[in-house]
Amino acid sequence: MKKIIIIKYGELTTKKDNINYFLSTLKENIKVSLAGLKANITYDKGRMFIESTDDNYDTIMKKLQMVFGIHEILIGYETDDNILDNIKSRVVELLKDKEFSSFKVETKRSDKSYTPDSMEVSRILGGVVLKNFNNVVVDVHNPELTIHVEIRKNKSYIYFERVKGIGGYPVGSLGKGLLMLSGGIDSPVAGYLALKRGVRIEALYFESPPHTSEAAKNKVISLARELSKYSSYVKLHVINFTEIQETILKECPHEYLITIMRRMMYRISESIAKKNNCKVLINGESIGQVASQTLTSMNVINSVVNIPVIRPVACLDKIEIIDIARKIETYETSIQPFEDCCTIFVPEHPVINPDINAALEYENLFDYNSLIKKAVETEEVIKVEDKVLEEFNNIL
Ligand code: ATP
Ligand code: MG
Repeated sequence: MKKIIIIKYGELTTKKDNINYFLSTLKENIKVSLAGLKANITYDKGRMFIESTDDNYDTIMKKLQMVFGIHEILIGYETDDNILDNIKSRVVELLKDKEFSSFKVETKRSDKSYTPDSMEVSRILGGVVLKNFNNVVVDVHNPELTIHVEIRKNKSYIYFERVKGIGGYPVGSLGKGLLMLSGGIDSPVAGYLALKRGVRIEALYFESPPHTSEAAKNKVISLARELSKYSSYVKLHVINFTEIQETILKECPHEYLITIMRRMMYRISESIAKKNNCKVLINGESIGQVASQTLTSMNVINSVVNIPVIRPVACLDKIEIIDIARKIETYETSIQPFEDCCTIFVPEHPVINPDINAALEYENLFDYNSLIKKAVETEEVIKVEDKVLEEFNNIL
C-alpha cells in the first residue's frame, strides 16, 4: 500500500474534446510548483495522482493549494488491486492508529461492472469495521470519521482527508493577458481573478520619476511577486510615463487630464500586449469608483484600443475587493502609502462625463504618437519570480 495524493479536477471535467490539453497544462504547472521536491505525477481523465518519493507530503499539500485547476486534494493510500478481501484488511490496518467513535463508509466505483455495487461495498466494509473495533458506531449524518473507498480498474484507493483546492483553470490554458498593475488594491485582485480563469499574465506598470519614487516601483514588484506564486513568474514591463504626463499637464485643460492620460495608458498597453502575444488587457477598474470609471468615461477611454479589456472587479464593491486582497495577501503591500502616477496629477474637478470630441481635440494639441513610441521603445522588463522558485533555480 503506498501513500498518495489524489487530485480532483472539478470544472475541468466539463471539457470534453480538449480535456487532455487542460490536464497536461495542469500537470506542467504542478511540476513547476513542486520544483525541488521529489514527486511522480500521473493522471487520467478522472484524477491526477502524486506520489512523493521523499515523503514530503505536507509541503506538497501546501503547494497544491496555490495551483489553479485543482478542485479538491485527497491524501490517501493506493492498493495495487481491487479485490474486496484485500480492501477489507487494508481498511482495518489503516484504522489501527486512528481514534474515532463514529464513522461511515462512502464507496465509489469508476468501473461500474465491478460487483458488488458501491452501497453494498460500504455496507460490507462497515460491518468489518464494527467487528474489528470496539465502542464505535455507524453515523451516516455526522460521523467523526468518513472512510472513503474508490474502486478503479485494477486499483483501489482509501482516504480519510479532503482539502479544498483553489479551483479555476490551469494558468496558461487560456492564453495570456496583460495586467495594468498599479500599486493599488484593485489591480492585483484583478490579476488574481484572471489567473484563476487560466489566463497567464504579464504586467505593465507606468512610472513617472521623479514624481514617483523607486519605493513605489518596488511596491509594484512586490505585488507582481505575490501574483507569481500562482504562475511561477510574472514578466513586468515598466514604462516611463513622465514626459507624456508632463506634456498633458502643460497642454490640456485640467478637467480632461485623467481622461487623456488614461487614453495614453490604454494605447501603450495595447502596443505592449500585441508585441508580447497577450490577447486581452486586464485592469482593476470598478464601475463608478472614480471619475474615470463612470460608464461614459470607460467608453471614451476604451475607444482608443482594439483589444478586449477584461475588468474582473468591475462589479465588485470595495469591501469585496479588499476581502479578496486580504485572502491573497496583497492588501498589506497595497496600502503602503506611496505615490502613483495617477494620483500625482489629480485635477480638482475631473470630468465625470467626458465628451469624445473634446478628448480628441485636446490630445491632438501635442504629438502623442512619437511620445508613445519613445515610451514603448524604452521600456524596462523585469522578470519577477516566486521566491521559492527563484532560490531553486539559483541552486541549479
Ligand atoms: P487600484 O485600482 O489598483 O487600486 P488605483 O485605484 O490607484 O489602483 P485607479 O486610478 O483606480 O488605480 O486606476 C484603475 C486601473 O488602472 C488600475 O486598477 C490599474 O489596472 C490601472 N492603473 C492605474 N494606474 C496605473 C499605473 N501606474 N500602472 C499601471 N496600471 C495602472
Ligand atoms: Mg482603483
